[in-house]
Amino acid sequence: LPDKYKGSVTTVWAEFIQLALEVKPLNLGQGFPDFAAPEIVIKALKDVANSDNVLLHQYTRGYGHLRLVNALSKLYSKKIDRELNPMTNVITTAGAYEALYCAILGHVTTCDEVILIEPFFDCYEPMVDAAGGKSVFVPLRPAKTSGTVLSSDWKLDINELTSCFTEKTKAIILNTPHNPLGKVFTYEELTVIADLCKKFNVLCISDEVYEWMVYEPYQHIRIATLPGMWERTITIGSAGKTFSVTGWKTGWAYGPENLIKNMQVVHQNILNSINTPAQEAIAIGLEHEISKMGSPDCYLVSLARELKDKRDYMAKFLTEIGMVPIIPEGGYFMVVDWTPLASKVGLDQESDRYKDYRFAKWTSRNLKVQGIPPSAFYSVPHKHLGENYIRYCFIKKDENLQKAADILKAWA
Ligand code: PMP
Ligand code: GLN
Repeated sequence: LPDKYKGSVTTVWAEFIQLALEVKPLNLGQGFPDFAAPEIVIKALKDVANSDNVLLHQYTRGYGHLRLVNALSKLYSKKIDRELNPMTNVITTAGAYEALYCAILGHVTTCDEVILIEPFFDCYEPMVDAAGGKSVFVPLRPAKTSGTVLSSDWKLDINELTSCFTEKTKAIILNTPHNPLGKVFTYEELTVIADLCKKFNVLCISDEVYEWMVYEPYQHIRIATLPGMWERTITIGSAGKTFSVTGWKTGWAYGPENLIKNMQVVHQNILNSINTPAQEAIAIGLEHEISKMGSPDCYLVSLARELKDKRDYMAKFLTEIGMVPIIPEGGYFMVVDWTPLASKVGLDQESDRYKDYRFAKWTSRNLKVQGIPPSAFYSVPHKHLGENYIRYCFIKKDENLQKAADILKAWA
């Protein structure tokens, strides 16, 4: 194995998916819906499979299937109030993962520094390593720890953030709405980041895969729309999140031509093109949602409405048993302090180094409810900041959330 991969540990996903296969818990771990995707995309995929257009089963344009890049341009041109060229401002990828990979490998080289905001979606760090870059970590910290804590109470210290920016900084990866905290960055917070990016000539890779899952009264703000940021921002999205079809692994990025070009250079020699039927079906789904924009049954807003109730239900039962949830403003995860229940957990029956891993494994095996240990989303020196928490996913059928509530209430 080349040296650049030597630091790469088995991911939390590989570990917990394996554990779930073994113990078959109620799975609130890896983030995916356990209910049906909207009829529009399912029907579209069936129609594609049966279509007379046999070419829909063959390779398509490498930088993005035409119908999909057209739909994405139309959607985001409206959202960012700028005319996107589907040929040059958009690329489609094998999930947001590949968009992140192309954005990082297409810009970062040896000795470049990339700022990661902790907790961070775990693949960012190994991707920076693969590019030969160096990650520089800055943690979100809770400004409040008693009473009801919201994910907006977790903030960046401006001085700490500012000190990360140097002439070596090539990029910062922003994730809003945030996984795992559910934080939706405010205009003021984004302005601080944007001003530093401009001052130090830094690229902003904005992972916005949860862009549609924002709970009222909060609003998703795209950093690409801040003054002077379009030129230096790559924004990443995911059909898996948008249409509740995580298994379709189709994602995209949009941004200025020069930055998207660099991504194309990476993409064209690893995948060249991604799967055609899923792109066609997602394009049909987006066309449909664009025509419904502004109406309450547009999936891009109706899903968030449903999720808000699920969030509130989960926060309530976790609070009732004595855990302390951080209430998310967006995304579909909840980070929860489990330590008030520490005396009820057989932590010493698990051998992991970090307490949250022991909690997550013990509860998977013994209660048959699985969550994800948040220390996976921290650099080694900062893993202790995640150890008192567990991440639960709430994009689940009500009956399954209720099962989780029943199990946890019977135990606590
Ligand atoms: N970024 C974040 C923050 C995520 O939570 C995910 C979830 N998988 C991804 C990127 C990757 O998305 P995809 O499944 O489209 O590859
Ligand atoms: N984004 C999802 C999560 O955070 C899935 C992650 C994955 O499959 N690697 O749980």
